[in-house]
Amino acid sequence: HREKDEEMEEPLESHVLVLPFPAQGHIKPLLCLAKVLATSGLRVTFLNTHHNHRRILPRDPCFSPSPLLCFESISDGLPDNHPRSLERLEELVLSIKTEMKAHLREFLLRKRVQFPVTCIIADGIMSIGIDVAEELGIPVISFRTYSACCLWTYLCIPTFILEGKLPFPDDDLDKEFHGLPGAEGLLRRRDLPSICRSKIDSKLYRYFIDENIAMTRACALIINTFDALEAPMLSHLAPIFSDVYTIGPLHALATQSNVGQFSGRSESVSSLWIEDRSCMVWLDSQAPRSVVYVSFGSLVKIAIDQLMEFWHGLVNCGRPFLWVLREDVILGEKEENVKSLLSELKVTSQTRCLVDWAPQEEVLAHPAIGGFLTHNGWNSTMESIAAGIPMICWPRIADQQINSRWVSEVWKIGLDMKDTCDRSTIDKMVNILMEDKKEEIMKSMARISALASDSIGPEGSSLRNLERLMENIRKIGR
Ligand code: UDP
Repeated sequence: HREKDEEMEEPLESHVLVLPFPAQGHIKPLLCLAKVLATSGLRVTFLNTHHNHRRILPRDPCFSPSPLLCFESISDGLPDNHPRSLERLEELVLSIKTEMKAHLREFLLRKRVQFPVTCIIADGIMSIGIDVAEELGIPVISFRTYSACCLWTYLCIPTFILEGKLPFPDDDLDKEFHGLPGAEGLLRRRDLPSICRSKIDSKLYRYFIDENIAMTRACALIINTFDALEAPMLSHLAPIFSDVYTIGPLHALATQSNVGQFSGRSESVSSLWIEDRSCMVWLDSQAPRSVVYVSFGSLVKIAIDQLMEFWHGLVNCGRPFLWVLREDVILGEKEENVKSLLSELKVTSQTRCLVDWAPQEEVLAHPAIGGFLTHNGWNSTMESIAAGIPMICWPRIADQQINSRWVSEVWKIGLDMKDTCDRSTIDKMVNILMEDKKEEIMKSMARISALASDSIGPEGSSLRNLERLMENIRKIGR
């Protein structure tokens, strides 16, 4: 009878649930993937938290979701007035693990009646997606939004702890760090992910280590990198995960697949902040390759004295600059002081333009941009590589420290000013990047950038992996 029943069963239409961690650097690449999948004919539900859903959608009247891409939201369990800031990240992750997990389960059960979800793509630090998928028997794929070098390092941290290498035996961050397979002779302690500097018994420490281990329970790993960039690190990941899909640089792959067509402006719904497009007009008035673009992403905050060091360093270097200064960028100051300082700084002139939030991909693609002073979030790093713009690295948290080491020492496409922040270093670094070592760094960047472009081209590994991913998602649905 069983065979007969199976024959008679209606095949399920593929329906992918995409579950991002609730932060800009996670929403952006997962939404990019969701759009690519929907454009290619798969039904996709993008599940934000209520908090981020409200920030992203109502702003863009041009936005008309494809009938195949549906935006929905659930509660993250925190009250509406919670700031959900980096300083209070622990409360957010604990609430995700408990409250949000229960909401996710309810959501999937409700969907069962309407359009059953056949596959979950869960952010690599949203293992609630894996837990609930296992309970309900839904296949789940992990999407890690970090680099392969960082993921590999995170996976080795439990071994470093067992070997007594972590926590660091003393405070000297300049000491060489040995023991990461594939990176011998490359790392100092300060190049490891920022959690390695914190207490190993903190809740956040545990959270990040556990999330990386949980990912290995998924039936595959998606990662926003490309084979030619990170082959040695990817070779360490291959035996750990059942299948690995490298699909980077994803934003460039998505643009190429004409994903923008169905949303009008494809970027506008990927940002939690409103883009100030006036900087594009300002860029049009600048000489080719003359402008330094400065952005520390969506989470990093800086102290007021650091901000002033950057300001003087940038003014002193004598080159025009475009600087993204979010309203919430300054750490630990009274709101009115911050407002008045930012409004003093944010006066556009021929040599400087400061905005709250920029259309970063477009900025990096603009011919006036000559260098990127970045915190090395992985999206920003990939966007810089795709655009062929060399970097000055000022990493602060998470994966940024390790990304910047690879940028400066492995790929040689930038300079790392990690853990220093004074006006003379900033001035000097900009001039080295844009003058003294310009040719040398641009040569490596042109090579890496061409590899990025090949990877998304007709025979490229990322494009092939994306096609393989879509094929496998369809098979799961049947
Ligand atoms: N971004 C942007 N406009 C800005 C600054 C950043 O659109 O003014 C985008 C950027 O293109 C990137 C994302 O925000 O895709 C930031 O992600 P990343 O991983 O670089 O850093 P995070 O914000 O997670 O620290």
